[in-house]
Amino acid sequence: MSAADIYEAAAESSELYTLKQTRLAVTNLSDAELIAIYEYRMAKKKSVGRFIYDDLMLAAPFGRCPLCGQRSVSTLDHILPKTLYPALSVTPLNLIPACADCNHVKSNVSPSSADDEPIHPYYDDFDNDLWLHADVVQGSPPAVAFFVTPPAGWSDSVKNRVAKHFSMFKLAALYSSHAAQELNNIKYSLTQLFDRGGETAVQQHLSEQADSRRAANANSWQTATYTALARDSWFCQEGFTA
Ligand SMILES: [Zn+2]
Repeated sequence: MSAADIYEAAAESSELYTLKQTRLAVTNLSDAELIAIYEYRMAKKKSVGRFIYDDLMLAAPFGRCPLCGQRSVSTLDHILPKTLYPALSVTPLNLIPACADCNHVKSNVSPSSADDEPIHPYYDDFDNDLWLHADVVQGSPPAVAFFVTPPAGWSDSVKNRVAKHFSMFKLAALYSSHAAQELNNIKYSLTQLFDRGGETAVQQHLSEQADSRRAANANSWQTATYTALARDSWFCQEGFTA
């Protein structure tokens, strides 16, 4: 069984963490040679395998990093780091598109238990469940705080994996920053709406915005933001002007 086959079987059952002790040998190639193939024959610009690297980066919808869902893809990240798993250096299923920040955060982090299993964009799909939520933080200016509330049906290990992902990539801070800018951007139009139709008009508008974003992605920071804004009466009663 090849290293790629062993990897694929483990990834399909969310058991990449069990590969830690497995020797994924590649005949006649040293660890340094395996890593060099990735660095000089695939990642390096104009190298013979660079088209594979570029194709994998294009796999991300809208060019957005699947780890944070926000920043632009600019690199590939090894789900299992190449320094610890040299045999998986060029395995396409071990290479995911990522932004530079998420790639840096992940670095050589390797899973050691079921709770550590990384969220794998090719194998995991949690978008059918609503797990990202937010609350309005009253103040001047108003802010939005993000948190994970997993559905009751999730297993403990999935709950822990998503919570760990949210914390490791510092998504609460990233999303709050973008939401703060969004609130500033919509302040003028909400003021106009309030002048015409009061709290009801503002609440209805925000609710429609939430519905539209939810139809596209239930767990985007935009969906969580507009859902929180629409149900917060302080915000809809001119809290947006604070
Ligand atoms: Zn990212």
